[in-house]
Amino acid sequence: MTVKTDLHCHTIASAHAFSTVLELAQYAAKKGLEAIAVTDHGPAIPDGAHLWHFGNQRCLPPYIHGVRVLHGAETNIIDFEGNVDLPADILKKLDWVIASFHAPVINPGTPEQHTQAYLRLAENPLIDVIGHSGDGKFAYDYEKVLPVFKNNHKLVEINSHSFLARPGSQRNCREIALLCKRFSVPVVVDSDAHVCFEVGMLGAACELLEDIDFPQDLIMNLTLARIAGWLKSHRGRDIL
Ligand SMILES: [Zn+2]
Ligand SMILES: [Zn+2]
Repeated sequence: MTVKTDLHCHTIASAHAFSTVLELAQYAAKKGLEAIAVTDHGPAIPDGAHLWHFGNQRCLPPYIHGVRVLHGAETNIIDFEGNVDLPADILKKLDWVIASFHAPVINPGTPEQHTQAYLRLAENPLIDVIGHSGDGKFAYDYEKVLPVFKNNHKLVEINSHSFLARPGSQRNCREIALLCKRFSVPVVVDSDAHVCFEVGMLGAACELLEDIDFPQDLIMNLTLARIAGWLKSHRGRDIL
């Protein structure tokens, strides 16, 4: 399986990441990717990007080194009501919005609280993707939430980086992927690159999906054309 886009990448706008947009695009081109998304952390995380970073992405050209570069964000979920740290007027201007829980932003609560937050978040039309939800610190009721993500056209991220960075997440990601298969919930496979060398490193997530015979039809970022079609039909956004 070859996934041709990587829609979760950080730049030096997040202080704990180490590459520029140009470097990410260069490596993406080298690896044969068709698209990347610049998805820096929202401002609620201590070393996230400034609010202006998100409003000003329009100055980036649509293609760099032949790679389509989407304007994006990894917005932080800031409470158990499913609120996020970027305002609607900024989110509306972006091509691609991931929403994630991060422990430096919000202390983990109970599985019931995380479940409630995700159910509320699912109702937010400005969120496209639920980031690395296999994180054991933010356990939730997968069987209850995943069908709601599907019905509300939220994509579920299978985050390749999680397997190294978030202890226990491999088992959780496998369970999430199996349930996405059972309920036909569309997913995206991402690297969560924090340096250009990691762009397109999707091996761990792809292996997991291959291992459970996950249908390729449900991997919405398999190609640029496919994710463009999804954004057009579910968000009315034209990225081509
Ligand atoms: Zn990060
Ligand atoms: Zn994250």
